[in-house]
Amino acid sequence: MPFVITDPCIGTKDSACVDVCPVDCIHPRKDEPEFATTTMLYIHPDECIDCGACVPACPVAAIYDSTDSTPSSQKTLIEANALYRAGEAAAVEKAEDIVKAHMASHPDLMAVPPSERAAAHAK
Ligand code: SF4
Ligand code: SF4
Repeated sequence: MPFVITDPCIGTKDSACVDVCPVDCIHPRKDEPEFATTTMLYIHPDECIDCGACVPACPVAAIYDSTDSTPSSQKTLIEANALYRAGEAAAVEKAEDIVKAHMASHPDLMAVPPSERAAAHAK
């Protein structure tokens, strides 16, 4: 089961997870051109080896350890993580469209500071 990045990454995007991932499956990295424009970071589900290193590294608890454990309010972002492909403009756009739709449909969560958003997922 792949790990999943969710909406506390929006507005945080500090790349702490990228620095600890042993297989470079979290994108965009800071040295990739998409980094400047993407809303959040994404985990490639086929490349993630489920090591768990990214979870404690994330300062805002944005990463869930499986699609099953991803809260209901965040389920659409599972597909965004799966769709994103570094360097592929169409894939990047599709993933970002899902994230933007998520933001539009969850003004309540977006109104919460990123550091408190994970706690709000459970409500
Ligand atoms: S669980 Fe491990 S392999 Fe998967 S994204 Fe996190 S750090 Fe990378
Ligand atoms: S550590 Fe968390 S907030 Fe930072 S980029 Fe990774 S998922 Fe986003």
